[in-house]
Amino acid sequence: MRKASLLGLLLSVILNVSVNGQEKTHEVIIIGAGLSGLTSAYYLKTNNVLILERKAQAGGRIIDGQWNGFHYPKGTEYMGKPEGVLKQLITDLDLDVIQIPPPTDGIGYKGTIYTKAGILDFLPTKKDRNQFKALQRKLSKLDKATEGVLWEGEDIDTYSTLDDVSVAQWLSENQIHPLIQRYIEIENLGLFSANNEELSILYNANEMAYNLPSPKDFWESEVFTFENGMVDLSNALSEKLEAKIKYGTEVISVNQQPDGSMQVIARSQGEKKVYKAKKVICTTPAPIAKKILANSISTRALEQLGKVDYGQYITINIFTEKRWLKEAWTVSCLDNYFTSIYDVTRTQTTEDYNGKSIISAYIPSTTAKDKTFILQSDEDVLQKTLKDMEHYFPGISKSVLGFDVQRFNYAYPVFGLGYYSLLQKLENDSSLNKTIFLTGDYMKYAVVDGAILSGYITAQKVNKLLR
Ligand SMILES: Cc1cc2nc3c(=O)[nH]c(=O)nc-3n(C[C@H](O)[C@H](O)[C@H](O)COP(=O)(O)OP(=O)(O)OC[C@H]3O[C@@H](n4cnc5c(N)ncnc54)[C@H](O)[C@@H]3O)c2cc1C
Repeated sequence: MRKASLLGLLLSVILNVSVNGQEKTHEVIIIGAGLSGLTSAYYLKTNNVLILERKAQAGGRIIDGQWNGFHYPKGTEYMGKPEGVLKQLITDLDLDVIQIPPPTDGIGYKGTIYTKAGILDFLPTKKDRNQFKALQRKLSKLDKATEGVLWEGEDIDTYSTLDDVSVAQWLSENQIHPLIQRYIEIENLGLFSANNEELSILYNANEMAYNLPSPKDFWESEVFTFENGMVDLSNALSEKLEAKIKYGTEVISVNQQPDGSMQVIARSQGEKKVYKAKKVICTTPAPIAKKILANSISTRALEQLGKVDYGQYITINIFTEKRWLKEAWTVSCLDNYFTSIYDVTRTQTTEDYNGKSIISAYIPSTTAKDKTFILQSDEDVLQKTLKDMEHYFPGISKSVLGFDVQRFNYAYPVFGLGYYSLLQKLENDSSLNKTIFLTGDYMKYAVVDGAILSGYITAQKVNKLLR
């Protein structure tokens, strides 16, 4: 008897369940094992953490596949030069960063791919190309001015008006050539699944300054990944945290208990599960967070969460007899069904490799408002993609060996007009940051670095409160 209860006690410590089968109170429950949730868990100073993940694997919007010995991303493909928390994390996890070999960028227009020193030749005149370079300088200046606001939490001061200026408005006030405006729109759709009208210049200057290609620097690469792609990062994190993750567990709601603790209700294999925690970190996309937290945060906070819109997105990886794209790692396409195509094999083969390969196309809707975009059939996606790829690579349709389509309902949060003040309202809401914490890319910026920084900041807040 004594032996049995001791064993039960031991098991309860290991599995974090009490002897009678009821879950014990966790110090922290994290909803979602995407990058932000994994980062929070990694930096929390308590061991008593449980991560509840709806899917059978971690990584969220970092998803990959494998074909013919190659890894291919179906979502996140790269990161900028690692800095700050991301850099620290990569060092801690002992991961080797790979620089994607240059030339990395190309521009596709009317069936021609422009790269290297001629990357701006899609623009009709020298005057237009000079305007492109001038725009680059202007955006870099704006980026330097706003970087601290976006990434370091500095006061917005003089830039507050930019929060209400769309990229489209800013470009037209600066009398930018329509084809350059088109290029920026394609970049924005590809990077954020939202168009120039929908994004605010406050959040966009940063990404555009980094993204606009320069004919002078085409041999420099500013894009990085890992041996098997970005999935190496989420895999390394989830392996470290494996014992704390419960997969296949979809959280339905979070409720405040009379004793001040939080009750987390989830569904797993058709069964209802009830968990208890002192703190809950919700890292799902905002619309899901709004549903989960409907009973536990203020109506004001719910209202703000409801304003965070997401664009839809489709990616397709096409497996081919030979390698078709060699001119650049990625080509932004100005007049096609897709906004960009990628040579997936670039970091996994030699420069002159010509064998079986993978080319991917990234396909956002033309507006984040379109909520039916992902309903197209796989076959439609393939046919529309190949039809437009034929302009660049005649004969590619005949070399197709297979394909893989991935859909994203919540691809990217739209950092639209007034987003800065929306985030301020969430930051300052009295129902948040005590027991319930909102975390994820939408709380910082819609890239890997943003998700990681958000996860890290939340871990710091929670560590302080648990001390
Ligand atoms: C197609 C595409 C390409 C991209 N490419 C890049 C890129 O190259 N570089 C870059 O920096 N960024 C890129 N991004 C953006 C980047 O992927 C995201 O910013 C980042 O991964 C977001 O991480 P997150 O943790 O905030 O959210 P997510 O990754 O969405 O994680 C949320 C997690 O919560 C889980 N979840 C949802 N609901 C529930 C529930 N009810 N219960 C339990 N769990 C739940 C989800 O399954 C998921 O695992 C891309 C995004 C997309 C869509």
